[in-house]
Amino acid sequence: MKRINVKIDLIACMDIHRGYYSKDINEDMIGKRVRVAGWISDIRELSTITFLIINDIYGPIQIISSNINKIPKQSIIAVDGIVQRSRSKTMPLEIKAERIDLLAEAVHPLPLDPSGRIDSSLDVRLDARALDLRNINTRAIFKIRHHALQSIRTTLIKHNFIEVNTPKIIGSASEGGANLFAFKYFNKQAYLAQSPQLYKEQLTLALDRVFEIAAYYRAEKSHTIRHLNEFISIDIEAAFMDAEDVMNIAEEVIIDVFAYITRYASKELEVLNINHEIPKIPFERLTYARIIDELKRDIKIEYGDDLPDHGLRLLGERHKGFYFITDWPLELKPFYIHAKDDEPNLSCSFDLQHGYLELASGGRREHNPNILKKRLVEQGLKPEDFADHLKVFEWGMPPHSGWGLGFDRLMMILTNTNNIREVVLYPRDTERLTP
Ligand code: ATP
Ligand code: MG
Repeated sequence: MKRINVKIDLIACMDIHRGYYSKDINEDMIGKRVRVAGWISDIRELSTITFLIINDIYGPIQIISSNINKIPKQSIIAVDGIVQRSRSKTMPLEIKAERIDLLAEAVHPLPLDPSGRIDSSLDVRLDARALDLRNINTRAIFKIRHHALQSIRTTLIKHNFIEVNTPKIIGSASEGGANLFAFKYFNKQAYLAQSPQLYKEQLTLALDRVFEIAAYYRAEKSHTIRHLNEFISIDIEAAFMDAEDVMNIAEEVIIDVFAYITRYASKELEVLNINHEIPKIPFERLTYARIIDELKRDIKIEYGDDLPDHGLRLLGERHKGFYFITDWPLELKPFYIHAKDDEPNLSCSFDLQHGYLELASGGRREHNPNILKKRLVEQGLKPEDFADHLKVFEWGMPPHSGWGLGFDRLMMILTNTNNIREVVLYPRDTERLTP
């Protein structure tokens, strides 16, 4: 067999295409010549032969070759060779190399070892995220993420929701202004959207049911394992639905995503050692008042307080799976939330929790412009600042409800991860702005 001796400057003339993915190599191809390509994850040199393991997105494939020049691990190669049976128990087929093209050399030392044999801290991994993704566990997380998004879209579209894109550069502080990233937009003041709330409500006027999957920005200086300054939210808003109706949609989205990834990402779940049971619906509904009574036994808390972090932790110990907290005091909720008809101090709103983690907030929205103006004033906001929004409510706004669900937090649940940074490719927090 020819020794490979490839100069990097020859790359331009080389065939850069892959013939087959690792998953496509099967018994029927024994004796056939194929071309595979990927990164080298392992090399074992015996006296006269070399075993190379190359990986592509779908997994490893073994290459057997007579003595070849040293190629550093993680380099990208393409191999032409004959499919044959191997002696390995884990990889029953291998490729006997006839030609190896070095398409890109990995320059050592690398910042981390994707094989996982040497542990790296999360910071090191995030600083070298592209390489970290060659780790089988990290890769599994982001493949599950892809499937989860597919599932959520499918469920919502089944219910006639239309996918929309609303602006992320906004000219006024939509929901009160705190926590907004502000910047100069030519000669005007602009902000990054913290949610699509007002736009999605407006869109129900004509589009009936809308959803958006997008990044939002909050200038919170929180150092937690569940907050980022840029996060992905799944938002829905539906005309002629009440809070209970959209809670039912949330339940369906959740159980569908568990079923979908169990079906389409079974290998990835296996890699992560996860065996999900599909959650049972309906999820438990607990009123805010009941939660406060429960917490009062252990912590100092009064009716009317928001749920503090240590309160959420206690709740998480007692309520393990998914549950809703309903009937929040109106004053704890934003101006656009509808009051309960029979108990005006309570709101038609809910949070969806998973243990300690708040996963979604939603409710019925106020669609009467006069009440909306009153609520804005009560919350110390100026109706003039919301003129563009309020005018839409004079054009025949249907009653509507919706929710916003933190997709990264859902990913933490689906992948049994306890730090949100694990499930986000390039997380943005108070310390981290690069890469
Ligand atoms: P929290 O109380 O946990 O800070 P929130 O009540 O401020 O959340 P909402 O405005 O209700 O958040 O946003 C809807 C959902 O978006 C939340 O339930 C959560 O899942 C997600 N979310 C909100 N802020 C963040 C963030 N900073 N990082 C990641 N996800 C977030
Ligand atoms: Mg919330």
